[in-house]
Amino acid sequence: MRYSRFGKSGFNVSSLGFGAMNLPSVPLEQAREALNYALDQGINYIDTAAAYRNSEEIIGECISHRRQEYFLATKTGARDYETAKAEIERSLVRMKTDHVDLLQIHYVNYVSEYKKAMDVEGAYKAALEAQREGSVRFIGISGHRPDLLVKWIAKGQFSQILFHLNLAQPFALDELIPKATEMDLMKVAMKPLSGGFIQPVDRAIRYPYSQDVHVTISGMVSVQEVKENLAAQEEEVGTEERLELEQLASELGQHDCRRCNYCSCPLEISIPDVMIASKFREKFGLLPKGHGFFERQKERITGCADHDPCQEKPLCEEKCPYHLPMQSVVQKAASFY
Ligand code: SF4
Ligand code: SF4
Repeated sequence: MRYSRFGKSGFNVSSLGFGAMNLPSVPLEQAREALNYALDQGINYIDTAAAYRNSEEIIGECISHRRQEYFLATKTGARDYETAKAEIERSLVRMKTDHVDLLQIHYVNYVSEYKKAMDVEGAYKAALEAQREGSVRFIGISGHRPDLLVKWIAKGQFSQILFHLNLAQPFALDELIPKATEMDLMKVAMKPLSGGFIQPVDRAIRYPYSQDVHVTISGMVSVQEVKENLAAQEEEVGTEERLELEQLASELGQHDCRRCNYCSCPLEISIPDVMIASKFREKFGLLPKGHGFFERQKERITGCADHDPCQEKPLCEEKCPYHLPMQSVVQKAASFY
């Protein structure tokens, strides 16, 4: 694990960040051990969000007594001033702290949502107010559309950017990361395993570690998982390995899906998961979570070919800003069963 200067924050951040999103799924004592073990090992970036069930409360319960040891990042999914203000105040109470280091405007994927959040009565106003009062140190933004995020950060209102970067989604490398570097923003990559789908785990963790980002947030729920993630960042990535990982990412990222979630399917097929996981499934197989996903979706995925309303024109495809061939990918995925 390396440490680096974290944009203009003055903080020396660890390259591995603790993603606390899934902690509500495990017993509290397990979460306590995992969080404290991570801090003991030098992980000093903790990521959560108001929307992650009681993840903020778990952080407050388990590590608020060590508050000076970590950079605390949370998010508000609110778009209006009043709701965002209330959400920020609630986050502080839940995490038993008087300030968060970073507040991100969460999951901004549409221009209309960005406009709402940045409106004079939007969530950004609440974030700025909290910053003036000292309860928020820095303001960032997260989303799944690197092409939109690059335009939004260029306006100069954010200190940090949170984006997908994994072997199946290398898209932030095109413009977003270079722009963030040019602006000296804090660069945080998320979902190295694409939500638990991707293997081999060590290569998946090493890919964002090999790139120009400060922190990779990995969702962890146990001491064992913290150990695995730390082991994958034990040694620096050499040039040869980096080139191999980049080659792999360009192959596995050919689906071009950004996980923007614009598409929807009347059969409730989770199209982005199918798009992103299919290449991996072919090449490496999937982690148990990925297998579970395909088993749960079996009936829906196999039903795509017979869904009459999509025979002439696939309903999903007209919503995709990248004009991707989702129908054929879903139907190909059905052939794995
Ligand atoms: S083409 Fe298949 S995946 Fe797309 S909307 Fe229709 S049923 Fe769903
Ligand atoms: S298939 Fe297209 S619309 Fe659906 S999540 Fe991927 S990029 Fe977005």
